[in-house]
Formats: sequence, C-alpha cells, structure tokens
Amino acid sequence: MSTRGKPFKVCRKCKTLVDKKAEVCPVCGSKDFSEEWEGVVVVIDPAKSSISKELELTKPGRYAIKVV
Ligand SMILES: [Zn+2]
Repeated sequence: MSTRGKPFKVCRKCKTLVDKKAEVCPVCGSKDFSEEWEGVVVVIDPAKSSISKELELTKPGRYAIKVV
C-alpha cells in the first residue's frame, strides 16, 4: 500500500498522527515515527469511547488505527 500523499506520520509509541514535518511527537516526546499506517480514529472522550479502550488510548486526539 502506497503512503504517497499522506500528510501525516504516526508516532509508534502512542499512535498519535503528527505532521510529517514534526521531529518530535507533541504528545509523548518520542522520535520514533512510522509513515506506514492505516485508518484514522478521532478520540474526543476516551472514557466513553469503546475504540479508544480497545486501542488503549487515554487522551483525546487523532490516532492511527493500525501502524504497520
Ligand atoms: Zn507519541
């Protein structure tokens, strides 16, 4: 699967989608990114979201569902 044209890369540590130009994850400070990811989930209220529990997301934000 091609990732051309994707405006984001994903932090491997916390799955947050960040701008491709970012050097450090604004959420966890990690520099470990992947440009191979699939699906986007926007978490507004992690406590009420079943997908955020499934993905172990604890903060509101925009996340990749699958990091390759
Ligand atoms: Zn992160």
